[in-house]
Amino acid sequence: MTTAGRGYALALWPHGTRVLHSVGVHDQLVERSLTTRRYTARSGSGALLTTAGPPPAIERHGHWGIVPRADLVELLGAARADVERRDGRVVALEEHRAGAVALLDDGTTLEGDLLVGADGVGSAVRTGLLGPQARHDTGWSCATWWIDSADHPAALGETVEFWGAGTFIGAYPLPRTRLPHRRRSLVGRARPPRPGAGCVVPSAEPDCPPTACCPPPSAELTLWPMTDVRSDRWIGDRVALLGDAATAFLPTAGMGASMALESAAALADELSRCDAAQVPNALRLYERWRRSRVERAQRQSRMLARALFTSSHLCARLRNGLVARAPAGLLLGPLLRDLEEPV
Ligand SMILES: Cc1cc2nc3c(=O)[nH]c(=O)nc-3n(C[C@H](O)[C@H](O)[C@H](O)COP(=O)(O)OP(=O)(O)OC[C@H]3O[C@@H](n4cnc5c(N)ncnc54)[C@H](O)[C@@H]3O)c2cc1C
Repeated sequence: MTTAGRGYALALWPHGTRVLHSVGVHDQLVERSLTTRRYTARSGSGALLTTAGPPPAIERHGHWGIVPRADLVELLGAARADVERRDGRVVALEEHRAGAVALLDDGTTLEGDLLVGADGVGSAVRTGLLGPQARHDTGWSCATWWIDSADHPAALGETVEFWGAGTFIGAYPLPRTRLPHRRRSLVGRARPPRPGAGCVVPSAEPDCPPTACCPPPSAELTLWPMTDVRSDRWIGDRVALLGDAATAFLPTAGMGASMALESAAALADELSRCDAAQVPNALRLYERWRRSRVERAQRQSRMLARALFTSSHLCARLRNGLVARAPAGLLLGPLLRDLEEPV
């Protein structure tokens, strides 16, 4: 990750936090994140649906917490002081038999044995390698803004989400100042405004909890289209896609960053077992190793999005009724199963 694109809180699962041991920044991550002590889902009007502390299985595997994205980027940057950093953005690429060349927007070029595109959901490297890939669009947008910890509608370390019809609000607490991060969709299923295009947030909604409903007028909103991408391929002979560039994630299961970290570790491992001539083979093994696990996690995020992003009051009532009757911790089931599998 580069330093651009700061601005929201990342829930990290042990899938991802475990990886940080290998680059020596795990303990700093734990220090700078807030351990998730409880997850609570409420209806749009605040009725309790489900609440649970972390299952012991999670703690056995590693740290589960929330960290400002910028802090994670900073920690990863500090982990390798010997890496040369450049500010330019990739605008085009070329693969040849022995390596790849990236053209940056400042007019310079970078050449190496391999180009790794870890440039997010809108990846220029992916477009350069494969051409445009179809977006999976939920039709919803997510607005994020920061509030004072005093207004956080739950206890310290508790993530709380309000599952309404036509709205979804999550409040994600962060350490020290406990500045929570709330996210919500805009009301309606019309094609959402894109970031920078302006947005209309209603000043009051009938189906919202009173304390966590609307951003204060002074709030700085950031808009995120709720779309993802699944690349047809992850690799060329000398180009690899990683993280959201390969398989992008909706934030609904909070898994995208953890999957990106896991994939980075797998790619590093494969590359540590080859020389420059064998890079194409290492990349094939990397894709075979990672792709099905990552796409399964993406499916889980999409399924959750289908359940959460509904404007139908009937569907929302049914969904909430089911969740309220299900055993606590059920929502975490697929993630726990993944943790038990080798990566
Ligand atoms: C509002 C929101 C909340 C989310 N919440 C969570 C969560 O709680 N937990 C979770 O796991 N996931 C969450 N996600 C998803 C998560 O952010 C991504 O899955 C994750 O960040 C992917 O990491 P990445 O490194 O692949 O891409 P990114 O984090 O997107 O990083 C890509 C980087 O590449 C840079 N870049 C872009 N284009 C270029 C270019 N042409 N050249 C060079 N650099 C470029 C960008 O500036 C950026 O720094 C959330 C997403 C959103 C939008």
